[in-house]
Amino acid sequence: MITANYTEDRKIDLKSLTPSQLQQYCHELGLQRFRADQLAQWMYQKRTNDFGEMTNLSKELRERLEQNTCIHTIEQVFRAESRDGTIKYLYKLHDGHRVEAVLIPDFDEVGNPKRMTVCISSQVGCVFGCSFCATGKMGFFRNLTCGEIADQAIHINHEAEEAYGRGITNIVYMGMGEPLHNYQAVVGAGHIITSKFGLGMSPRRLTISTVGLAKQIRQYGDEQQPFSLALSLHAATDEKRDQIMPINSSMNLEDLREALQHYHEQTGNGVTFEYLLFDHFNDNEDDARELAKISRWLPSKVNIIMYNDVEGVELQRAKEDRLNKFMKMLTDQGVLVTVRRSRGDDIDAGCGQLAIRDNEEKGKSLA
Ligand code: SF4
Repeated sequence: MITANYTEDRKIDLKSLTPSQLQQYCHELGLQRFRADQLAQWMYQKRTNDFGEMTNLSKELRERLEQNTCIHTIEQVFRAESRDGTIKYLYKLHDGHRVEAVLIPDFDEVGNPKRMTVCISSQVGCVFGCSFCATGKMGFFRNLTCGEIADQAIHINHEAEEAYGRGITNIVYMGMGEPLHNYQAVVGAGHIITSKFGLGMSPRRLTISTVGLAKQIRQYGDEQQPFSLALSLHAATDEKRDQIMPINSSMNLEDLREALQHYHEQTGNGVTFEYLLFDHFNDNEDDARELAKISRWLPSKVNIIMYNDVEGVELQRAKEDRLNKFMKMLTDQGVLVTVRRSRGDDIDAGCGQLAIRDNEEKGKSLA
């Protein structure tokens, strides 16, 4: 029996199935393997949820699917475009919950789109409660299905083609939720997105980012998942990490070092350390020294992220001069470092802010 989402009338949501589960489901129905690919093509490439349109399936099969299954889709309910080209989307799910995704375009010197990054959500809310995060404040409602995750990327790919004349080039799981806390759906969505019936993009261009779930990092390595991995570090000592990320009290930096080194041994891959730079909290010389030490755990790069300030949060974005000094301290110690400037300030592009309001109106959090 496969794990899937069922409707009240016991219909199975085909988009809640990972690609291998969809194949298994077709097998249970006595269908040939290629039928799973045909279904996936209709759902993700042709973006239909109407079995009547699936004309390469027999009438009898379409009727059978209609009786036993359904296809839940996401619906765009809001779109905000920033002066810098960043576009934020709010989606309504079939049960009324809301999640966000953001398109972040980078342009070359003459204004042509160069890199189109999409930031997608994996859960409605989050249980981990990091002190700087808007999503963490709303509590946890539910996991997204792999179809709900993949659909964000596929929808925004079409939007990007329309708005900027080119599709998306990179995907990061840094929207609402902790991706590895919804492991099966997140990995399943990655396989949909990178398949020929999804966007056909290279798996290395899709980055799964985690707050540091050591057990799942090991699993990810053991399964040789082909996607990139990022660790949201945000502080380079247990003492500081404890203050802003409650998960650190149960999985500290030593646990993460062991899990990441295991991942590297299994896959040969390195990792990106994400580091939100907060003013006078984690941006001094000692922090840079500790961060440089961590960067040597395995092949890695450090991505400094400029924080989008969140209402009610004391921590604030580091000032430009402190950012520059911090970057220099890291590069002087041989750290490979990039910086992601704050984008979409005028549209609240920091994750969770729009959806919080809508989900709070809908019902109580489960956290
Ligand atoms: S930063 Fe990530 S893990 Fe932490 S509360 Fe926000 S969504 Fe959850």
